[in-house]
Amino acid sequence: MFLPVSVIHTLDNRAFIVDGEKWTPVPVGTTLEEARLIHRKMFPFVYAPKPKPKFRPGYRTIKMKSLTHRNVYYYVRVLDDGRVECDCPGYRYRHECRHTKHVLSAIRKLKGV
Ligand SMILES: [Zn+2]
Repeated sequence: MFLPVSVIHTLDNRAFIVDGEKWTPVPVGTTLEEARLIHRKMFPFVYAPKPKPKFRPGYRTIKMKSLTHRNVYYYVRVLDDGRVECDCPGYRYRHECRHTKHVLSAIRKLKGV
């Protein structure tokens, strides 16, 4: 499978692979075909099959639509101790993501803090 990836050449003679959120510099003249291969090599976790979300007792799971990829959903889990986890590639990589931030701010609003 190939995700929507495009190659952008900037006016100051640089080139980037763009996949929605990430801009990755590549050699000028990179073709779309090459860009897809590079992208796949650099971000293998994006292409890896997604593990099934685990529904464990005491967890609340919120299904969130990906903003960058159509028909992709991520599962944000609110744990009993108030921590929030997500199964998107960004969270696996950085241990935070816009999905967990969104859920945390919604929880704060509900609690009025
Ligand atoms: Zn996420």
